[in-house]
Amino acid sequence: MAAMAALEAELAAARATIATLRGEGAADGAVPHQKELEEKTKALEAANQELRSLTQNLDQIVRQRTRALAESESQLKRKNVELDRLNRMKAEFISIAAHELRTPMTSVVGYLDLIVEGRLGELPGDLRRPISSLRRNAHRLKRLIDDMLDVSRLETGRVSLHRAPCSLNDIVSAAIDEFKPIAGAKRQSLEGRLSDVPPIDADSDKVHQVVSNLLANSVKYTADGGQIRLSIDVHEGQARLRCWDNGIGIPPGLQARIFEPFSDVHTAKHHTSNSPDSAGLGLYIARGIVELHGGSIRVESEEGRYSEFTVLLPLVGAERS
Ligand code: ADP
Repeated sequence: MAAMAALEAELAAARATIATLRGEGAADGAVPHQKELEEKTKALEAANQELRSLTQNLDQIVRQRTRALAESESQLKRKNVELDRLNRMKAEFISIAAHELRTPMTSVVGYLDLIVEGRLGELPGDLRRPISSLRRNAHRLKRLIDDMLDVSRLETGRVSLHRAPCSLNDIVSAAIDEFKPIAGAKRQSLEGRLSDVPPIDADSDKVHQVVSNLLANSVKYTADGGQIRLSIDVHEGQARLRCWDNGIGIPPGLQARIFEPFSDVHTAKHHTSNSPDSAGLGLYIARGIVELHGGSIRVESEEGRYSEFTVLLPLVGAERS
């Protein structure tokens, strides 16, 4: 750039000289010496030549850079295609593995339920504890397999929603009834604040799954004797569900992460129940389901004080996104 400026200055000076020679600028009309004129002309030609070669260099550099840019762009495209392929393979692998595991697991869980409930005969006393532990872990495995299936269906766009007008009030009431005994076992109060919300345009089973996940988390991450509250109302033309608890809360920096897969942001020692830890897929699945409905989910929390999850879902008649 400095070289260009110097050349331009030199050019300007040469132009001024020519102008003077032509008598355009010379006030006294004096004609300079022929030699001086030749020197200036030569300098001008040299400067011109240098300018041309600089321009050529510049052109070459620009061409080289453009080629390199195009190459890295096509490399990036190839890598993206490869990444896509690997991602699809991963989803397919998870899907196949989960499908293959589910059938035998259903039978294992079913038999263990029958054994623990004593429907296949009385269990010897010393086997009760180990068999109960076996059953708990089998249920845990089955939940994990079900979650993996949900994730792979969501990621490959294979979740079909059976949407119909349904009552959020009914869904939430049913979930509260289901969780009352579990919360009761931890002496937690589980309160429903239900107002009349017009029908939502949703797959009621899937919404039930979301509500259950939120409630299960509230029970899990709230200490014995804590409070859990579910409320529903209409907010800015959408149905709003809020699940609040005064549990351990979530650190601010980690609040966005909990909607990612495998996102247990609390170490096991913070868990307030003896139930086995899950894989951290619940909220990822919940978000997938809610977004598939055209809704949204978010969290507000203060560590050590409370967590509140808010889900917005479209009412019947709202335009589908
Ligand atoms: P998990 O099965 O581990 O509960 P989720 O996807 O449902 O997985 O939740 C992800 C993480 O978010 C949890 O592991 C926990 O760290 C945090 N979390 C979820 N709900 C709550 C809550 N109500 N209170 C505190 N932390 C929570």
